[in-house]
Amino acid sequence: MIYLDHAAATPVSEKVLKSMIPYLTETFFNPSSAYLPAKDAREAYEAAKNKIANFIGAKGNDLVITSGATEANALAFTAISSRIDRVAKMRQKSDSTPVKKPTLLVLETEHASVLENAKNYDFETIKVDKTGLIDLSDLKQKLTDNVELVSVSLANNELGTIQPLAEISAILKETRLSRLKRGITAQLLLHSDASQGLSLMDINVSRLGVDLLTLNSAKVCGPKGVGALYVGHDARLNPVIMGGGQERGLRSGTENVAGVVGFATALEAVHGHASATRKKYTALVENLKNELKKCKVEPVYLGNKNHRLANFLPLSFPGLDAERLIFKLEEKEVYVSTGSACSASKGEPSHVLRAIGLTDEEIAGSLRLTLGVLNNEENIKEAGRIICEVVNSEYERQKNV
Ligand code: PLP
Repeated sequence: MIYLDHAAATPVSEKVLKSMIPYLTETFFNPSSAYLPAKDAREAYEAAKNKIANFIGAKGNDLVITSGATEANALAFTAISSRIDRVAKMRQKSDSTPVKKPTLLVLETEHASVLENAKNYDFETIKVDKTGLIDLSDLKQKLTDNVELVSVSLANNELGTIQPLAEISAILKETRLSRLKRGITAQLLLHSDASQGLSLMDINVSRLGVDLLTLNSAKVCGPKGVGALYVGHDARLNPVIMGGGQERGLRSGTENVAGVVGFATALEAVHGHASATRKKYTALVENLKNELKKCKVEPVYLGNKNHRLANFLPLSFPGLDAERLIFKLEEKEVYVSTGSACSASKGEPSHVLRAIGLTDEEIAGSLRLTLGVLNNEENIKEAGRIICEVVNSEYERQKNV
C-alpha cells in the first residue's frame, strides 16, 4: 500500500511499542498504589510527562494528560467557565449587576473538536484569508473587552496552514495592556491546538506566547487516545472529568502509564530533527508535484505556499468527484483523504474549504495528501503515477457521460 494520510493517523513505531510493553505487562500497577512496585509505574509516568513537557519547553507539572486532543481542547475552554464562576462569586457579595458573559474567539477553520466545544460558550469566529491564514484585522476588531480566550491552531489539519502564533500573542499582550490602563482586569488567554505539526516545528510555549497548548500523540507515531494540555501559570481550569483527583484534580482516572510512556518515546524520536524532517518532506512533496504535472489536467494546489506544514499537499481536481477518486485509488492501494477524516465521514462539504472561498466544484474535487514516515522517493513516484492514471481515466469517463 501507499499511505498518504499521515494527518489522520500514524503508525506506532517499533521503538514506541517496545517502550510501552513493560507498563502493560510486568509493571502494570496503578501508579497511585502504595506498594513499592507501583512506585516504578509512578516514576515512569512522571519521567515521561517531563519528557513530553520538555519537548515544548515546559515542566511536567504544567501538563494535564488527557485521552487525546479532543479532550484537551474541551479542558482548555474551561478556563472561561472558571472565570465566570470567580467573577460571579466576587460579585455575589456586593452588587447584583449581571456578569457580562466572557467570550471565546476561535478561528473559523478549526478542527471540529474546537468548534463543537466552543458551542458551550459565547463564541465568535475569526476569519481566514484565501490560504487559510488568520485575518489579523478581524481578530483585532473582535477582541472586545469581554473576550477571555482566543483559540487558534498551530497548523490547520486540512490545509496545513501554519498560523503566526507569536504575532497573535503579541496582539493579545497589547490588548491586555490597553485593558489594564482602562482598569479592566479580565483575563485574556491564548490557546492553540498543536495536534498537527508536532514533528515538523520547533515548539516552545514561551516563544509562541501561548497559555494553553494541546498535544496529540496519535499524529507523531505515538499511541492513539493519548494527549496533553499544557497549562500556563495564568490559566485556571475546571475539570471536565471528575473522580479520584489524578492530574492535580484536573483530569481524574487511572493514569495511562503505557500510553504516556509511548507518547514520550515518540516525541524523543523526533526531538531535534524538525529541520531535517521538514527538508525531507519538502523534497518529497516537490517530487510528488512533479509527478502530478504528468496528469492530463494538473491539480489546483490549496493552502499557503510559504506557511504550510512541509508534509501537506492539499489540492483539487476541479470537476472531478473526490469521493470517487478516493475509492478508485483505494482499489490500487493508495490511501488519501478529502478534507479531514471527520468532516469527510459526515458527508458534508468541508467548513475549512468553504472558509477559504473555494467553489463547489473545487471543494468536490479536493484531496488532502499528507506525507509521513511511510513514504520515500520510490513510493511517492509510484503514488504520483497512480494518481495521474486514476485522474486521467476519471476525466475521460466524464467526457463520455
Ligand atoms: N485537533 C486536530 C487539529 C486534529 O487534527 C485532530 C485529529 O485529527 C484532533 C484535534 C482530534 O484528536 P483526537 O482524535 O486525538 O482527540
